[in-house]
Amino acid sequence: MQASFKTTCCYCGVGCGIVVHKDRQGKLHVEGDKTHPVNKGMLCSKGMNLHYTVMDTSDRLLYPEMRYHRNLPRQRVTWDQALERTAAVFASIIKKHGPDAVAFYASGQCLTEEYYVVNKLIKGFIGSNNIDTNSRLCMSSAVAAYKLALGEDAVPGTYDDIELADCIFVAGANPAWCHPILWRRVEAAKAANPALKIIVSDPRVTQSCATADLHLQVNPGTDIVLHHAIGRALITAGHTSSSFIKEHTNGFDKYKDTVMERTVEEAAAICGISAEDIYTTADYIGNATGFMTFWTMGLNQSVVGVNKNLSLINLHLITGHIGKPGSGPFSLTGQPNAMGGREVGGLSNLLPAHRVLSNPQHRKEVQEFWGGTELSDKPGLTATEMFRAMHDGSLKAIWIMCTNPLVSLPDVRFAEAGLLKTKFVVVQEISNKPETLRFADVILPAAAWTEKEGTMTNAERRISYLSKLTDAPGEALPDAEIICRFAQKMGYHGFDYTNMSEIYEEHCRLTAGTNIDISGLNYQTLQEQRSVQWPYHSGKSTPRLFEDRQFFTADGKAVIHSFEDANKSEQLSKDLPLILTTGRIRDQWHTMSKTGKVSKLKQHISSAYLEIHPEDARQRGIQADDIVTIHNGRGQVRVKAQLSDTIKKGVVFLPMHWGKILNNDLHRANNLTNTLLDPISKQPDFKYSAVQVQRYRKP
Ligand code: SF4
Repeated sequence: MQASFKTTCCYCGVGCGIVVHKDRQGKLHVEGDKTHPVNKGMLCSKGMNLHYTVMDTSDRLLYPEMRYHRNLPRQRVTWDQALERTAAVFASIIKKHGPDAVAFYASGQCLTEEYYVVNKLIKGFIGSNNIDTNSRLCMSSAVAAYKLALGEDAVPGTYDDIELADCIFVAGANPAWCHPILWRRVEAAKAANPALKIIVSDPRVTQSCATADLHLQVNPGTDIVLHHAIGRALITAGHTSSSFIKEHTNGFDKYKDTVMERTVEEAAAICGISAEDIYTTADYIGNATGFMTFWTMGLNQSVVGVNKNLSLINLHLITGHIGKPGSGPFSLTGQPNAMGGREVGGLSNLLPAHRVLSNPQHRKEVQEFWGGTELSDKPGLTATEMFRAMHDGSLKAIWIMCTNPLVSLPDVRFAEAGLLKTKFVVVQEISNKPETLRFADVILPAAAWTEKEGTMTNAERRISYLSKLTDAPGEALPDAEIICRFAQKMGYHGFDYTNMSEIYEEHCRLTAGTNIDISGLNYQTLQEQRSVQWPYHSGKSTPRLFEDRQFFTADGKAVIHSFEDANKSEQLSKDLPLILTTGRIRDQWHTMSKTGKVSKLKQHISSAYLEIHPEDARQRGIQADDIVTIHNGRGQVRVKAQLSDTIKKGVVFLPMHWGKILNNDLHRANNLTNTLLDPISKQPDFKYSAVQVQRYRKP
C-alpha cells in the first residue's frame, strides 16, 4: 500500500467513516473506519463499493463546454471562456430583470464549504434568496417541525442513544435498506437487550419490519391519526410526565382536547390497523426509560409533512423523553450533508448559522460580516417553485449544481418543460449522463468524492472532514472553486480564498454566538478529533441537546402543537383509484449517477418494477412479471409487475432511482408524482399520488 486516507461516506446521512487505501498503481479500495464513532468499522453495500465510482472515470465530464443554441453540439472551451460568458449573461439578466430572475439549485451532497460560498454569492452579493437544494425534497418538513416545537432546527440526540433506548419507534422509514449502518446498530442493540421494543409504522412490510416487535401497517396518509391515537392512549393510561409537561412545555391542554376527539378504536379503523396494536405501542412507550423515534420520507414527503413530524415529536414532549440518554425525536436524512447545508443557511428561507431571514438584525449581522450588498428579506424560490417560475418566465437563468432534478423532482415532465423555456441554464456536474445536460448552455465539470477536501455534517450534528486523495480527471474543479472563480468574474470581493480551510473557518466564525456555535473549529481540530458534534464550545462536542431542559424558544419551553389530522393529498377517483408511493431500494442511491456505475450493486435489483397487491393485480388481469402501465394525467411508467402481499391493497410502489434510459423515460417514477406542497416546508407529496395500473398490451 502506498497511502491511506480517512474520509466520510458521500451517500446517506448516517455519515460513516471510511479509510481509503491507495496502492502504488493508484488503485483505491475502501474499508470502514474502525475509529469512527458512527460506524465503528462497518460499511453497507453502497459504502463498500464507493471506490469503483471514483476509479471509473468513463462517464466523467472533463472540460468546460458551451453552446450558443441548444440544437448545436457542445464545444470545449476554457474555464475563463465558460465563466466569463456565464458572468456576462447573469449580469445582463440581473440588470434588466432584477436579482430574483436568477437562481441556484444545489444539493445535499455538496460539501459545507461549497454550500457556504454559493449561499454567500447569491444572498450576500447578487442580492436574491433564490438558492434552494434537493434537500427541500428530503428533510424540510423535519426542519420546520423542529423549529416550531423546539425553537431550533436541531436533532436533539445522538446515535449513541440507540444502545441506551428500550423503545424505538420507526415511522415512515426503512432504515434497514436506506440507513443500513444505523439499522445494524439497532439490530445489535436488540440482540444485546431483548427487552428493547421496536415498532415500525409503514404501509409496506419492509426489511426493517423483520427486527420489529410490532409492525403498524397503516394506510398511507394516516400518520397523524395514528400519532394522536398513541398520544390519547398514553394520556388515558397515565403514561405522560406531568412534571415535564408543566415545567418545560406549552400547549398540552389544547393537545389533550384534540387527541380526545377521536377514540383509539375510531383512529385504528382510519389507519387500517387494530386498536390493540395502538394500545400495545402506547404501553411500550409508556414503560420505557429511553424512547427514541426515527423517521424519514414517509413523514417528510407529505402535503401535511410538518404536522406529521410535530405529531410524532409531541409523543416525546408529553412523556418527557427528550434531552436524556436513550431518548429523543430523530429525523434521518437521505443525503450526506443536508445538515451542513442548513448550517450555512443554504436554503431559500434560511440565513447562515440558523439565523432567521425575516429578522432585520440577523440580516444586518450577515451583511456586515460579508461586506456585500443588503440582504433581501424576501424568501427565495424553493425547489419546485423555481421550476414553476421557469414556466411563467420570471426565472430567466438557473445554475444547477450536483443534482439531477429531471429524475428527482415531482411531476418531472413539468420540470423538464420549464427548463426548456429557461433562457440560460448552467449545469455543474461530475457525470456526462444527467438529462439536465441536454438543456445546458454552459457545462462545468466538477470534482468528485476523494478529489476535493471539505466537511460534511451527518444526521446527528456530527461534522467530519473529508480528505482529498486523488486528482480530478481532465480540468474538473472542486465545486467551491468554480463558484469562487465565477464570483470574481462578476466583480465581487471576498471570494479570493487560497484554500478550503479558509472558507471553513469563515463559516465557523459566522456561527459565533448562535445556537449552533462552532466558532472555534478548524480543519486541524477535525483531523485530530476525527469528528465533532455541534455546538462545539471550549473544545467540547455536544452529543445531546436539551439536557438542561432549556429549549431554544423565547421562554425556554418546548411547544406541543395541535392541529387537525386530515390528510390533504391528491384525491383518488374511479379512474385513478390506487395510491402510488415511491422510495428507495437497498443498493441504489438517488438517481444512480454513482451507484449505477457499480455492477455489483445491480445484483440485488437490476431494473425498475411495480410492487402491487395480488388482489389489485387479479382485478386487472395482471400476473407476476407482466409488463404494466401505471398512468395518470401527468404521465406514465411502464415496468414489470411484482406481486406482493407485503403492500397494502390499494397501494402500489415504484422505486425512485431510474431516469431516462436511452431516451426512454418509462421507468421514471416522477412522471407520475404530484406537485402538491406542504404549506410551511414546501416539501412535495411524493408518497401519495393517484394512479391507475393496467396490463400493457403491445399496440
Ligand atoms: Fe454510506 Fe450510509 Fe452506507 Fe454508511 S450507511 S456506508 S453513510 S450509505
